[in-house]
Amino acid sequence: MPELPEVEVSRLGLLPHLPGQPIVRAIFRIPKLRHALPPELAAELAGKRVRAILRRGKYLLFDCTGDGAADGGWLIIHLGMSGSLRLVPAGTPEQKHDHVDLVFPGTVLRFRDPRRFGAVLWHAGADVERHPSLAVLGIEPLSPGFDGEWLYAATRGRAAPIKPMLMDSHLLVGVGNIYAAEALFRAGIAPTRAAGRIGRERCHALAAAIRATLEDSIAAGGTSVRDYVHSDGGAGSFQVACAVYGRAGEPCRVCGTPIRALRQAGRTTFHCPRCQR
Ligand SMILES: [Zn+2]
Repeated sequence: MPELPEVEVSRLGLLPHLPGQPIVRAIFRIPKLRHALPPELAAELAGKRVRAILRRGKYLLFDCTGDGAADGGWLIIHLGMSGSLRLVPAGTPEQKHDHVDLVFPGTVLRFRDPRRFGAVLWHAGADVERHPSLAVLGIEPLSPGFDGEWLYAATRGRAAPIKPMLMDSHLLVGVGNIYAAEALFRAGIAPTRAAGRIGRERCHALAAAIRATLEDSIAAGGTSVRDYVHSDGGAGSFQVACAVYGRAGEPCRVCGTPIRALRQAGRTTFHCPRCQR
């Protein structure tokens, strides 16, 4: 499933090409992905100019607000479980699962989504943060507001284990299973540790570890992007080398103790019982 780093890499790959360009037309080849793709939406998108591309959590936000134009708004794209975006030259024949095209002058932004859980949405008006899908999202882990003090304050009084909390998008966005496990290992914190019992210093270490884990993954993905942008949907596709994730029974790279797997909130968690407390 595309995670925050893959979405950010897609955004970075699109930035040199799309801002300033008009959407000539939108082509929907199926009636719906996660939500309906009505002809009215295609008509709405035609003629809009993309000013900037932002990201909120795993949503890509195309700013089409225009210079005070009353009909401006935001194109919102979510890659879902298996979606990927690609820039292809105009006239490139579509392949299986290429469900949506946004045609720009000379180039096409092509959305492929075999499992059809992705989303292509339009939000009229300037206040995209108020879109129902975005309004419920927690803090951005790569934003300046996210640091050890924030994490310390957010976890006080919480008896729940830290790992599921890190993965709660209402609190903090974009920290998926792999990134939560890896960040906790880097910070030396057990995934089962009660969140409220993690001291201030360790909260600082954890916030830094979350940021570093995501940034490393973005950097690794960035190196594979050239004339197209993609996220192939493979689990951990941009992981440089996982320290714990997927390594049950293998020796910890720090202390040699076998990595353990456990079930937590319905997900498999990997940790080193010696390095993480
Ligand atoms: Zn260890």
